[in-house]
Amino acid sequence: MCGIVGYVGAQQATPVLLEGLTRLEHRGYDSAGLAVLASSGIKVAKRAGRVRDLAGGLPKRFAGKVGIGHTRWATHGPANDVNAHPHTDAKGDVAIVHNGIIDNAASLRQRLADEGVDLVSDTDSEVLAHLVGRSEADTLEGKVSEALAAVEGTYGLAVLHADFPDRIVVARNGSPLLIGVGEKEMYVASDLAAIVRHTTTVAHLDDGEIATVTANGFTTYRLDLTRTARDVTTLDIDPGSYEAGDHDSFMHKEMLEQPAAAERVLRGRLDERFGTAHLGGLNMDARETRAIRRVKILGCGSAYYVGQMGASLVEELARIPADAEAASEFRYRNPIIEPDTLYVAVSQSGETIDTLLAVQEIRRKGGRVIGLVNVVGSAIARECDGGIYLHAGPEVAVASTKALTNMFLGFALLALQLGRVRDLSIADGRRLIAGLDRLPELIEQVLAQEDALAELAGRLAAAESLFFVGRVRGFPVAREGAQKFKEISYRHAEAYQTSELKHGPLALISEQVPTIAVVPYDELTDRNVGALHEIAARRGPLVVVTHADVDLGGLDVTRIDVPRSERELDPILLTIPLQLLAYHAALELGHDIDKPRNLAKSVTVE
Ligand code: GLU
Repeated sequence: MCGIVGYVGAQQATPVLLEGLTRLEHRGYDSAGLAVLASSGIKVAKRAGRVRDLAGGLPKRFAGKVGIGHTRWATHGPANDVNAHPHTDAKGDVAIVHNGIIDNAASLRQRLADEGVDLVSDTDSEVLAHLVGRSEADTLEGKVSEALAAVEGTYGLAVLHADFPDRIVVARNGSPLLIGVGEKEMYVASDLAAIVRHTTTVAHLDDGEIATVTANGFTTYRLDLTRTARDVTTLDIDPGSYEAGDHDSFMHKEMLEQPAAAERVLRGRLDERFGTAHLGGLNMDARETRAIRRVKILGCGSAYYVGQMGASLVEELARIPADAEAASEFRYRNPIIEPDTLYVAVSQSGETIDTLLAVQEIRRKGGRVIGLVNVVGSAIARECDGGIYLHAGPEVAVASTKALTNMFLGFALLALQLGRVRDLSIADGRRLIAGLDRLPELIEQVLAQEDALAELAGRLAAAESLFFVGRVRGFPVAREGAQKFKEISYRHAEAYQTSELKHGPLALISEQVPTIAVVPYDELTDRNVGALHEIAARRGPLVVVTHADVDLGGLDVTRIDVPRSERELDPILLTIPLQLLAYHAALELGHDIDKPRNLAKSVTVE
């Protein structure tokens, strides 16, 4: 959420910053701005709206070889020109960009106002500029350190100061920040996407670190300015994976990448001989794995719903009690942490603050947490005791597709390994492995139905309100389907257990309210079909996501038939047409698919 980019070197900073901001826009896109250090001092340009609006309105001369930029996702104060970052101090000597939330902003604003400072924006972030500007420390690092000592909250922060024109000082606490290393030029960014075209050699800051970045290198410190050592790593990433290519949106590209992404998460992790999975990154031996008595999965949004699918997999394959919970709620109910529970944190970015805080709460209480994370080296990945990297490749669209699919597969691998140290037979293990091997091809077959799904989505887009229903294995699929539909089409889409409809919401069924029903082939198929009759009897239009050999008893419905795998794995195949429905409905309605209103990728604020 929210993007930071910075440049210091021999080039003009503005084009580098604008390009970086464009690549960060999925992380926050209600306003954008940049600041450069010109010979006359700091210059700032910022405005509400998109990066292209900012670029279009820039003064002709906006020169400087050191600069910082920001795309905002407002938390304090509306998205307007004044609240956009960068913020400056009273004299205009300091410019800052900030991601995160300053919790004690109200009292700091009051203190500054009492000291006669005129605060011009509604943001929490502006206090940082004034605190740095008013510090009497001799160095910029000293000023930033002093300012941060007064601050409670989360930040990724980048600071320019007219008196220290050779550097950017950055700091991190809870919001991602990395330094990119070039040839006599250096970059800072909240996300590799911003700088990947220039360098993939990076250093990730840890929480509680400050760094000085000049054209020639960087130095890292703790908040008290004692030195720290930070390694540089070169990431093996193809910059092209951050491009949409021939696709009209990243979401479309990322949906179609799912078969290849699925192959990557499975690669080298299936052991046909013993009918199990190899997950070396869990850092648990067989004895420890066997001692697990409960699995608790934590995630937010789609990661929470796929966590529910994961809980079913663990219960079915390993017969260990498992459930998923919204990570955003978990920490606030003083959770009971048990030593024989395996906690699983699920996050594409590995920066989701609610999930990260849940991980920290569990670890503080002595629990064991593993991560299912896509971004290598991200905060959650580093904080966990072990984990499974998802290898989905960069995911840019706000609506998660390929990362979600790989989360499901990560759970399938975990459940298989947990099952095989318990009572899952080698034959069943091999059955699952064969099913997993076939999945990429089956996903491809679902994606091949895109034209028919586009036509159906066009019709669904006309409905103001829809139900997505399923039960047991199918219910998390319905929840994820409704989530995807509402987040990009802005239609009201409500997920319900099919079995619960008659206990209330059936009252809402009418010719105007379509129901998308998820009907897997399993022991509940007949009951599901019974419930569909109840909807049809009330003239509710029905779309049924199912398999070709499921008999719907002559119901007049629109069928979406997906191929069958092993029944434990079918939920992910049933999920994929729902992605395409949401995508094409949003396209039909003319929405910005990759940047849905009010949202942002990587939710790094609580
Ligand atoms: N809390 C700050 C604001 O509302 C920063 C938001 C962000 O991370 O973009 O301006």
